[in-house]
Amino acid sequence: MKAGIFGGTFNPVHLGHMRIAEEVRERFRLDKVYFIPAGRPPHKTDQGLAPGVDRYFMLKEATAENPYFEVSDVELLRSGRSYTIDTVEQIFSVLPRDSGCSLIMGMDAFMEVETWKSFQNLFERIEVIVVSRPACPELSGARADQTETMRDVILSRISKQYRYDPETSCFVHPRMKTIYRFKATAIDISATNIRRLVAGQKSIRYLVPETTETYIYQKRLYV
Ligand code: ATP
Repeated sequence: MKAGIFGGTFNPVHLGHMRIAEEVRERFRLDKVYFIPAGRPPHKTDQGLAPGVDRYFMLKEATAENPYFEVSDVELLRSGRSYTIDTVEQIFSVLPRDSGCSLIMGMDAFMEVETWKSFQNLFERIEVIVVSRPACPELSGARADQTETMRDVILSRISKQYRYDPETSCFVHPRMKTIYRFKATAIDISATNIRRLVAGQKSIRYLVPETTETYIYQKRLYV
């Protein structure tokens, strides 16, 4: 059993999330991708954040037709802030013993890694798959090469002993877990933009799953 943990605020889920999860699943031959909406994300303000139950139901509907996708409410049920390391431990505790598990995240989330609780432990515990993201604000001009940027972040903040292997596009370490760099189809959609469009009474069709669009209008979210 190989599983992927895909955390985020999913405020709301959009087709960028869906597609990268599908591409990662296929490339890494995952048996399951767990979408895990954050309860109270540590790095984002609560302002403009739809209730956890709504974000959860939008994900449930969006993933219903894909047998490889599952939505987990572990972070919503836990009190206090949502920390990835706690979620990882919780998912490990329910997976069969010999399971493999990776954490999936976009480049923008990876860039903030040093602000995460116990981030050193995280890289000792679980493989990480970092998905490229277009128009990532941290990456412009000379730093547009996302591999170079990843290398900087990894060597300066995680461990100097990581080495890049261009053949497998991953950073390997003698003791810590592998960090993969994965170039997914560039889809320049963000939840921030979806919320802006809804507030401005503009169409969000073909940016979010149809069920998500319907749900947002029914519940009058983001207006
Ligand atoms: P917001 O605009 O509210 O910050 P978001 O669109 O970044 O939201 P999140 O729920 O924060 O969505 O994202 C969950 C994870 O998915 C993060 O690791 C993020 O980097 C990644 N991600 C989101 N959208 C994309 C995309 N279009 N391409 C690649 N990765 C993405």
